[in-house]
Amino acid sequence: MSILVTGGAGYIGSVTVELLLERGERVVVLDSLVRGHRAALPDGVPFYQGEVGDRDLILRIAREHDLEACIHFAALAYVGESVTEPIRYFVNNAAQGMLLLEALIEAGVRRFVFSSTCAVYGEPERIPIPEEHPRRPANSYGWSKYFMERALEDCDAAYGLKFVSLRYFNAAGATERCGEDHEPETHLIPNVLAAALGRIPYVPVFGNDYPTPDGTAVRDYIHVRDLADAHLRALTWLRQGGGSLFLNLGSGKGYSVLEVIRTAREVTGREIPMRWEPRRPGDPARLVADARRAERLLGWTPAFPELATIIESAWRWRLAHPDGYPKHQAG
Ligand code: UDP
Repeated sequence: MSILVTGGAGYIGSVTVELLLERGERVVVLDSLVRGHRAALPDGVPFYQGEVGDRDLILRIAREHDLEACIHFAALAYVGESVTEPIRYFVNNAAQGMLLLEALIEAGVRRFVFSSTCAVYGEPERIPIPEEHPRRPANSYGWSKYFMERALEDCDAAYGLKFVSLRYFNAAGATERCGEDHEPETHLIPNVLAAALGRIPYVPVFGNDYPTPDGTAVRDYIHVRDLADAHLRALTWLRQGGGSLFLNLGSGKGYSVLEVIRTAREVTGREIPMRWEPRRPGDPARLVADARRAERLLGWTPAFPELATIIESAWRWRLAHPDGYPKHQAG
C-alpha cells in the first residue's frame, strides 16, 4: 500500500517525501508543479502531474497504488497574495481540497494528514496559542485552510475519515537535498539569505510599530525536518487507530524580524542590508505556538529548535543551490 503525498514536490512536501522514503514507506506524489519542483523529488518516486481536484486522476492513482493514506500539502501559501487574490486561494486550497476529499472517500481512503496553519487563528487573543483558541482567520489563506478543517470534521462524523490537521507555524530551514525555492519569494528567511548573497539589494522589513519589544513582528520558526517528522508521527497515530486531531507545530519560541536578521548576520558573516517598509496587510503582530499537545500525543518535540541552526541549514542549501532547483525539468 502507498501513501499519496499531494504537493510532494513543494518545500515541506519534498522534505516529508525524503523522510518517508528513509523510513521505508511507499510513496506516490501528485503535484501541479505550479510552485513545486520536479527536481525536488528523488528519482524513482512515482509521480503524477495534475490537480488535486481531478477526481478521475485521484481514482486512477488510488487504483494503481492501493492508497492507504493521504498527506495533503498541495496549496498556495502566501498570506499577502491571498489578500489580493482571494478567489484563487478559495478555489485552489478549499474547493480543490474538497474535491480531493470527495475522491479519496470514494476510493475508500480514510486516513488524512492535512497541512494546516497558524493563520487559522488570526490575531491571537493570547500567546502562546493553544489549539482551542478560536479560529478567526485574518486573511483568505487562513480562511481557505479553515474551510478544509471544517470539512474534515464533518467528514469524520459522516464517513469515518480520520485526520490529523497540523497547524504549522513558520516553516524554515533545509535538509541537504531539499530547500526553499519559491517564485516569487516572499518569506523572511529566504529573503534575508538572498540579501546576504547580494541577490536582492536589501531585506524589506514590513512594519516597525507592532506592539512587540522591538516593534517588528514575532514568529515561531520551526525546522522543516521537524515538520516532516510530525507528519510521520501523525500517520503512525492514525494507523494505530487514533482519533482525529488538531495539532500546533512550533517551537514555542518567538523571534522578531530584527532578531532573524541579526542571527542571519552571525551565521553567514555577511552584512545583510535592510530597509523599513510599511506593514504587510494580513500580518498579525505575534504568532507563537503552544505545541504541548503534539508532544503529549505524538511524542513530538523539535530536534532543531535553535534559530541559528535553522538558518544555518537554509544557508548551506542556498550556497549549494544559489539559483534554487534546476528549472528545466518539466513533468
Ligand atoms: N517579513 C519581512 N520581510 C520580508 C518577508 C517577511 O519583514 O521580506 C515579515 C513578515 O511581514 C512577517 C514575518 O516577516 O511579519 C514572517 O513572514 P513570512 O512571509 O516569512 O511568513 P508568514 O508569517 O507570513 O507566514
